[in-house]
Amino acid sequence: MSDANLLLLLAVVLPPKALDLLGPVIEERVVETHYGSVGPLALRRGAQGMGVWVQPYSGLPSRTDPRATLLAAKHLGVRRVLNWDAGVAINSLLSPGQPAIVVDYIDFTRHQPQTFFEREGIGSINQNPPVCPQMTTALFNALRMAPGGVCLGVDGPRRETAAEARMFRLWGADMIGQNMVPEITLAAELELCYAGLVTIEHLSADQQPLPRQGEVRHGLERVIRALPEFVQALAEPASCGCADRLSAAHRRGILADDWWQSVKS
Ligand SMILES: [Zn+2]
Repeated sequence: MSDANLLLLLAVVLPPKALDLLGPVIEERVVETHYGSVGPLALRRGAQGMGVWVQPYSGLPSRTDPRATLLAAKHLGVRRVLNWDAGVAINSLLSPGQPAIVVDYIDFTRHQPQTFFEREGIGSINQNPPVCPQMTTALFNALRMAPGGVCLGVDGPRRETAAEARMFRLWGADMIGQNMVPEITLAAELELCYAGLVTIEHLSADQQPLPRQGEVRHGLERVIRALPEFVQALAEPASCGCADRLSAAHRRGILADDWWQSVKS
């Protein structure tokens, strides 16, 4: 157990040393869970900042069971998870390099484990609000001018077709990410705070591609510079309701599982 209170799932490719702004790596750990091992996770701590666990993350279908990742956060005593993904712009107002903050999501995944409650048919889990309001506000404050958007989660690795892009737009999606879902759902089941940030890498298949002039790299650097302010804002005590999503029936169900005994807080 550490006093770090944030797990950063890093699904963007950053230059080496980019995260040194969050402080040096002071510990590395592999966490064993009921659904597989996770890591090595790196703990970073700045001079006066909170500790942050960092896990490079990939939405490839071959990735670790996403349940393992969220359980690892529990094992580490972390209550908050930030998923920083690279995505595809569906909304024509979004352009490459732009960061967009996830305010809601649509689940279009079909091959991912969707729940920890596979064996219980005991009602629905509150997914409202879909993201942690406190963390999301901190993102909006740290990344001024970044728009909020609806993220559509897909399995990958294939890209969307032009017809799918048009359909997703009609559904109200602003961007596509391969790493946001089902993690966002699973986090709610573990009553963790979860927020999402998508840096746009591509325009959707039905839009004319723009010539690339380093805007993705600039966009990533902009987020990196904003991360310390975001992390610092989380030093405030939790004022959200994320830790109170489960019904009493769900709590009884999950507590009856042997694996849960090792991680319950
Ligand atoms: Zn929260």
